[in-house]
Amino acid sequence: MIFRLEHGADISESIIEFCAANKIKSGLVLFIGAVSESTIGYYDQDKKKYKKISVKKPMEIASGIGNISMKDNKPFFHGHISLSDKYGKMTGGHLFSPTRVFACEVAILTGKKALSRQYDDQTGLFLWKFGSRGRLKTVYEK
Ligand code: ZN
Repeated sequence: MIFRLEHGADISESIIEFCAANKIKSGLVLFIGAVSESTIGYYDQDKKKYKKISVKKPMEIASGIGNISMKDNKPFFHGHISLSDKYGKMTGGHLFSPTRVFACEVAILTGKKALSRQYDDQTGLFLWKFGSRGRLKTVYEK
C-alpha cells in the first residue's frame, strides 16, 4: 500500500491511524520526504531508557524505515529515521512524536499474519513475540 501523509501531520500517529483503518497487523514500512520539526531518540542500554532529542528545523527524510506489529491489540509502529540538514549533515535515530510532515511518501508491505510484542526483561523493550519454533534468540546463544 502506498500513500502520502498530510502536511503538518505527525508521522507515527498517521501511520498508526492508516494501519488501524486498513486492519494492517504486520508489515514493513518505508518512507521519504521532509519534516518541519522532529523528535528522535537514542536508547541508553545501561539505563534502559530513551534519550529524546528535539530537532526544531526543517530536514530532509533521507531514509525512513520501520515495521508494524500489534501491542495491546492495537497497531504499533516502530520507526527509525535518517535526517539531513541544508548542509547535508546527518542525524537520526528512533522516531518519536512530535515529528511533523512537510511532505512524506509512505509504502507499507503488509504481512499476512499478525505480529505481536511482549516485554523483554533483558533489554527493557517490547520485542517481537515468537513461538518456540521461531525463537531467533537461539541463533545468538553461545
Ligand atoms: Zn527503535
